[in-house]
Amino acid sequence: MTDNKVALVTGASRGIGKACAIELAKAGYDVAISYAGNDEAANKTIEELNAIGIKSKAYKFNVADKEACQKAVEEVINDFGKIDVLVNNAGITRDGLFLRMNAENWEAVINTNLNSAFYMTNPVIKLMMKQRYGCVVNMSSIVGIMGNAGQANYSAAKAGLIGFTKSLAKELGSRNIRVNAIAPGFIQTDMTKDLDTEKITDHIPLKRLGLPEDIAKTVKFLAEDATYITGQVIGVDGGLVI
Ligand code: NAP
Repeated sequence: MTDNKVALVTGASRGIGKACAIELAKAGYDVAISYAGNDEAANKTIEELNAIGIKSKAYKFNVADKEACQKAVEEVINDFGKIDVLVNNAGITRDGLFLRMNAENWEAVINTNLNSAFYMTNPVIKLMMKQRYGCVVNMSSIVGIMGNAGQANYSAAKAGLIGFTKSLAKELGSRNIRVNAIAPGFIQTDMTKDLDTEKITDHIPLKRLGLPEDIAKTVKFLAEDATYITGQVIGVDGGLVI
């Protein structure tokens, strides 16, 4: 075991989670990453993390499965000794107009994007309370604030994460545990690769889509520098929600 702080980032084989893992590793964290099934992407991320010179390990499990989350957190604690930072990042979309949205697509999105935060945070918080230190970052979205036609399931999950964040911040502040959310705008990842980016960019004051690194820098700020910030929703959206 090293003296480094330890971060656990869910959904970090690709996209925003991967960038968060790399940014935290560059800041000297040992990093545990989770992913759903893309072994090739996870292995590549682990290679990149190891090249930075910190300890890292990947855990394959479904964040929508309560028992699997509990077991994975136990494994991470066993392997790394502690968890200082938890980033609840894993997420999916199953878009469609509400009239045509079936229960399967509703439940998949709520389970993967919202219930997962409960399943992961519950066992981690117990450890953080003993440590009397911790930082939790929940990956929400601008659509959790604004809503979005065709994303009733996703918007509900992301709005749920905001209420979860604020309530936990109130409960856990006295234990020196900070809980914040990030609300990304449109970020260039696999999740957004099929969108009409030209049309979207028109509406963004900074006139570009975000990069995963834009979110990762904010996660690092929340983990390392934001010692008096808790219960906040930080918009990282190029000014889209103004
Ligand atoms: P992405 O590129 O599609 O990557 C998703 C990550 O989550 C992958 O590592 C994937 O693992 C993992 N994952 C998916 N379902 C999972 C499950 N059931 N169990 C465990 N891991 C699972 O997504 P992204 O764009 O980086 O998004 C990351 C987060 O930011 C999500 O919560 C998303 O809602 C949020 N967000 C994204 C945007 C955006 O514009 N991209 C905007 C606002 C919010 P595998 O590689 O194994 O599939």
